[in-house]
Amino acid sequence: MEQSSFAAARREHWKVLGATLVRSLTAKGFQAQYVPTKEEALAEVFRIIPEGATVGIPGSVTIREIGAVEGLRARGCTVIHHWDPSLTQEQRMQTLQDELLAQYFLTGTNAVTLDGTLVNIDGNGNRVSGMAWGRNTIIFVAGMNKVTKDLDEAIARTRNVATPPNALRLNLQPPCTKTGHCVNCNAPERACKALLILERATTGRTSHVILVGDDLGF
Ligand code: SF4
Repeated sequence: MEQSSFAAARREHWKVLGATLVRSLTAKGFQAQYVPTKEEALAEVFRIIPEGATVGIPGSVTIREIGAVEGLRARGCTVIHHWDPSLTQEQRMQTLQDELLAQYFLTGTNAVTLDGTLVNIDGNGNRVSGMAWGRNTIIFVAGMNKVTKDLDEAIARTRNVATPPNALRLNLQPPCTKTGHCVNCNAPERACKALLILERATTGRTSHVILVGDDLGF
């Protein structure tokens, strides 16, 4: 009984905070909404992306955690993603590019500030490239664990919270995989090299943000 009341309080907090963020993001040109669960997040993705569409998915743990790759394929969509283990290195490089040209670009975000700024960091730069510009529709999905107070906290999150597990996932060994936090390294295997601050939805495309009352991604 006590455990369920703790969970209920957490859900209510995220719902209230989610409403604040929806107002901030809407004021900055994003089509924003809050949903309580990852199942509802996937349903919203399905509402936006029509059956049979092409969908580019860059490196995003959140998108895999909501089950979007399998779910979109089951709806007849062509999912383009470079994490496909069957790809050769050459095919993988081509797929990184093809993801950017799909009709829909579906991604997570490393941080979202209370005033509606999205902050992301990349090693290759492919993901932030597709976030910054595209002729397609972009959909960001963000667990409430990604919310930060302001830009400074968001940038710190990309380095101290998002990058260390991402480097571990990629079998890289920059110092943060040993310390658990960023030391602003110059290591050959530095996993964070390109930082993107989206202060507004960019011009020329529709940008959706789906906030989720769950702990998702890095
Ligand atoms: S700068 Fe280096 S230590 Fe810091 S997060 Fe990036 S890879 Fe890790």
